[in-house]
Amino acid sequence: MKPFVGGIEAGGTKFVCAVGTGRDDIQAETRFPTTTPAETIGRAIAFFQAQQANRGPLAAIGIAAFGPLDPNPQSPTYGYITTTPKPGWANADFAGAVARVLSVPVGFDTDVNGAALGEWRWGAAQGLDTFIYLTIGTGIGGGVMVNGQLLHGLIHPEMGHISLPHDWAADPYAGRCPYHGDCLEGMAAGPAIGDRWGQPAFELPAGHPAWALEAHYLALALRTFICTLSPQRIILGGGVMEQPQLFPLVRQKTQAVLNGYVQSPAILQQIDSYIVPPGLGNRAGVLGAMALALAQLA
Ligand code: ADP
Ligand code: ZN
Repeated sequence: MKPFVGGIEAGGTKFVCAVGTGRDDIQAETRFPTTTPAETIGRAIAFFQAQQANRGPLAAIGIAAFGPLDPNPQSPTYGYITTTPKPGWANADFAGAVARVLSVPVGFDTDVNGAALGEWRWGAAQGLDTFIYLTIGTGIGGGVMVNGQLLHGLIHPEMGHISLPHDWAADPYAGRCPYHGDCLEGMAAGPAIGDRWGQPAFELPAGHPAWALEAHYLALALRTFICTLSPQRIILGGGVMEQPQLFPLVRQKTQAVLNGYVQSPAILQQIDSYIVPPGLGNRAGVLGAMALALAQLA
């Protein structure tokens, strides 16, 4: 029998919690706004307790959370959200709070590593061992699988904060990352687009110059990730990628900035299946959390 597990997609603005056995079997789901850790984690725990009472015991729970966080099981602050500016959440013990009350194994990782694992299990990365999942939303973050393992390293990757060539004459916008100004996130996340053009990103028409510039920055970032990690595929999710015209632009510009250097048919001939949307669509987050739960049972 397939294990019955829970997942928490813990975002900075909302939490989504679900129980089930996988992509085609989500048996219950709830969502609520992210407030204080005590209240928000409390609501998640109450949801799982109610589901256990109705449907039987959960084998594990996965948490795919906003960060920065500590995903290292050997560390004293494992399972904590660490240095976030989000009020109340700095140094909040998240995984521990869930594990203590529900007494189940808890998987804990970044939202994007979770989404990567969900895409690997059920979505657009099935059968691959080295790939990246990037979200372009309120922020920019990347989850990475290398040789079949989610990458943590020192802490976890922060792919949104790489630097990019910035042609100030073509784009005088200074960027809005509080740490780096014009890093990738500072220049290309949803709020930066809104700020630069004086209008929310989702209101800009498809033909607006914002999208060619956005694709330009994303292509420069993908060149860096392709040249450093050698991913077999790149999955682009998040609200900004809801603009369907972005995919063809990003593919074309990525080929252009690589300039033929990386000699793979995946890039030279099959770019449409190399840079792709999430196979799980907007379920990538919560299914990613459930995949982190299943990984605890492996
Ligand atoms: P989050 O990153 O907070 O989890 P999203 O991935 O939905 O959430 O990203 C929200 C950001 O994406 C906002 O800055 C918003 O302006 C932008 N966004 C959402 N929908 C669209 C859209 N259809 N087109 C362009 N930008 C969008
Ligand atoms: Zn930055």
